[in-house]
Amino acid sequence: MLRIRNSLTGEKEPFVPLRDGEVRMYVCGITVYDYIHVGHARMLTVFDLVQRYLRARGFAVTYVRNITDIDDKIIERAAHNGESWSQLAQRFTAAMHEDCARLGLQQPDLEPRATDFIAPIIAMTRTLIDKGYAYLAANGDVMYAVRKFAAYGRLSGKKIDDLRAGARVQVDDAKLDPLDFVLWKTAKPGEPSWPSPWGAGRPGWHIECSAMSTELLGDYFDLHGGGVDLTFPHHENEIAQSCAACGTPFVQIWMHNGFVRINDEKMSKSLGNFFTVRDVLKTLRDPEVLRLFLISSHYRGPINYSEAQLDQADETLLGLYRALKDTRDGADTDRAALGAFDAAMDDDFNTPEALAVLQGVARDLNSCKAAGDAAGTARAAGTLRAMGTMLGILQQDPEAYLKRGAGAAELADADIAALLEARRQARAARNFAESDRIRERLSAAGILLEDKPGGATEWRRA
Ligand SMILES: [Zn+2]
Repeated sequence: MLRIRNSLTGEKEPFVPLRDGEVRMYVCGITVYDYIHVGHARMLTVFDLVQRYLRARGFAVTYVRNITDIDDKIIERAAHNGESWSQLAQRFTAAMHEDCARLGLQQPDLEPRATDFIAPIIAMTRTLIDKGYAYLAANGDVMYAVRKFAAYGRLSGKKIDDLRAGARVQVDDAKLDPLDFVLWKTAKPGEPSWPSPWGAGRPGWHIECSAMSTELLGDYFDLHGGGVDLTFPHHENEIAQSCAACGTPFVQIWMHNGFVRINDEKMSKSLGNFFTVRDVLKTLRDPEVLRLFLISSHYRGPINYSEAQLDQADETLLGLYRALKDTRDGADTDRAALGAFDAAMDDDFNTPEALAVLQGVARDLNSCKAAGDAAGTARAAGTLRAMGTMLGILQQDPEAYLKRGAGAAELADADIAALLEARRQARAARNFAESDRIRERLSAAGILLEDKPGGATEWRRA
C-alpha cells in the first residue's frame, strides 16, 4: 500500500483517496515573470513523478497545476520592460511550457490561470466577509482576520502568538492584526484591475489557489503539493481561507518538496544564486541528465546542486543506455524486481531506493548480455524500460543517446519533438509570435520545418 508523508501530521500515512480509485491533486505552479530555475524544475519534476506513479498504480488522477499570471513582481517587471503585464505573463508562460516539455514533464490535466478565475475569487472573498472571517480595511483592501480561524498555524506547526510576536509591525495601519493578509488588493492608478464589490482591484496570491482548487477539484480533495517554502504562510493561508469559506476540511494530504541548495544556501530568485533551466540544459548531453539528478535524492530533503552531481547523473545514464543498447523488450518481466521497485515508490516515493533497484536490473542485464542469455536479456531490458517509464527516464533510442556528445549544443530528437509540440500548441492557441519564435529557435539549431496540409509538421536537419 502506498504511504505518503503528510506535512499536516508529520506522519507517513496510508494513502486512501477520498473517492474510490480517483485522485484529485493540486500543485502550486509558477509565477510567470521570468525563466524557471532549477529549484522550480525540482518541484515540477517531483510532482510529475507523483502523478505518473499514481497513474501507474491505476488511479484516475486529476492533476491541477496553476499559473500565477498577475502579481506584484509581474506588474513591476512589465513596467520595467515597458511591456504590458499580460504580454510578459504570456511570454514567460510559453517559455515555461517549453522548458517543461524539454524536461520530459507530462502536462497537468488542468492548468488554470489566476486571471481566468476572478469571479470565483471574488465569490470566495465575499463568503469570507459574510461569515465574519474577512474585513474591508481602511485602505480599501479586503483582509483575512487570522485570529478568527482557530486552527491557524497547524500545518506549519507555528503558534499564533509566537508568529504575532515575530511579525514586523506593519507601517500601514490597515491591518487589525500584523498576521492578517490580503484577499483583494485595491488598484493603484495605472495598475491592472478587475471590478469588484470593493472597487477595482486584483486578487491576493493566497486566495487564488483556494478559489481555483475548490472550483476545479471540490471543497475537499486528496493531495496538495508545493515547495517547502510555501508551507508558511501560503499554504497555511490557503487552509484558513478554504476551511472557513467551505466549512469542510480542505486537503487530505499535504506534500512538500525540499530546496535545491547551492553552497548550502537555498536556490532562489531573491538570493540571486539561481541557474535557469534553459542555461543548465545547454551544458548537458540531454535534459534527462537534469531529471535523473533531481530524482536521485528523496523529494523531501534538500539537494545540493553542483556540476559534479550532474556529471555523476550523466555517467549513470550513459551506463544505463549502454546496458539497453542492442536489446529488445521481452514479453516476460522480472516480477521480483518490479515488486521491489513498487515497494520503494510506495514508501513515500523513495526514488533513491527505486533507482537502486533499477541499477540492480541494469547489472543483471549486463551479465545476461555477457553470458549470451537472450531470454534473460530481453526480460531485464523490458523490466528496466518499465521502471524507466514510471520515472520518466530511459525511453530514448540508446544508439542515438550514446552518439550524442557531452554538452551537445545540437538539439536531440526528443527536444525537437518537445519544441514541435510546444509550437503546435502555440499555433492552436493562435499565439503566432510564440510559434514563430520556436521556429526561429529550431532554425538557429539547424532544424528546418515544413508544415504539411492537415496540420502535421515535418522536420529535417539542414
Ligand atoms: Zn498556491
